[in-house]
Amino acid sequence: VRARVMEVTESPDVSYDDIGGLEEQMQEVRETVEMPLEKPDMFRDVGIDPPSGVLLYGPPGTGKTMLAKAVANQTDATFIKMAGSELVHKFIGEGAKLVRDLFEVAREHEPAVIFIDEIDAIAATRTESKTSGDAEVQRTMMQLLSEMDGFEDRGEIRIIAATNRFDMLDRAILRPGRFDRLIEVPKPDEEGRELIFEIHTRDMNVADDVEFAVLAAEVEEASGADVKAICTEAGMFAIRDDRTEIRMEDFRAAWEKVQAENDDEEVSKT
Ligand code: ATP
Repeated sequence: VRARVMEVTESPDVSYDDIGGLEEQMQEVRETVEMPLEKPDMFRDVGIDPPSGVLLYGPPGTGKTMLAKAVANQTDATFIKMAGSELVHKFIGEGAKLVRDLFEVAREHEPAVIFIDEIDAIAATRTESKTSGDAEVQRTMMQLLSEMDGFEDRGEIRIIAATNRFDMLDRAILRPGRFDRLIEVPKPDEEGRELIFEIHTRDMNVADDVEFAVLAAEVEEASGADVKAICTEAGMFAIRDDRTEIRMEDFRAAWEKVQAENDDEEVSKT
């Protein structure tokens, strides 16, 4: 069961350079996660407890997972990922045990960064939680909180959680000593989108007519994940046209396609 829900990576291959925009967020993640892992003595000497958990919140595909991976990479920490939804939906009755396993695996792999994606699945307010196993969800969350509360010497393990649904969260998880650092990870602005285009086309054969500043202005509302998808699709358009160079028109067609796909997803959700 463990192996199926936990993704354990010794050193994830994402670095801060791979993340476009999000300067402030990166800075904050570094201070709250990286510093305590790299300089635990500093906190001890100063006499303060480092922040326990960090909560990243914002729309899908904005780089939350990347941030967590980059900090694990930077600190040579093992990256252990688990999705809240998998915890409670896949293995009914196993949630609390999986949380215990998660922390056990982290202790075996110190230094470690635990990343819990979709934390709202286990930490939604009671009224909003629509899952069938309501009591099960509660038990899973209680286990998580008790693991965090009981973490006296957590120098070598940091916990990062992420959610797209900040409004749904049970405020209990935001109390001091728990996820007491909140970092908003918004969609990129125009400048951010330009940087993300540059990052994802690093290894691509881009024609001279391509201007990322212009594209960045055109793909309004695109998330980082959308920009990445646009780049891949643009490459596909070039291939379909039997070209090895990717032109501006390919990027534009790709944006149309990505938008259409996003719209389809919206429809299928409702
Ligand atoms: P979700 O909430 O859906 O889990 P997320 O915020 O964790 O999303 P990521 O998994 O980090 O999003 O991003 C998905 C992909 O989109 C990344 O692998 C990357 O290719 C691209 N991406 C997203 N944001 C950025 C960014 N700021 N810079 C560069 N690439 C990005």
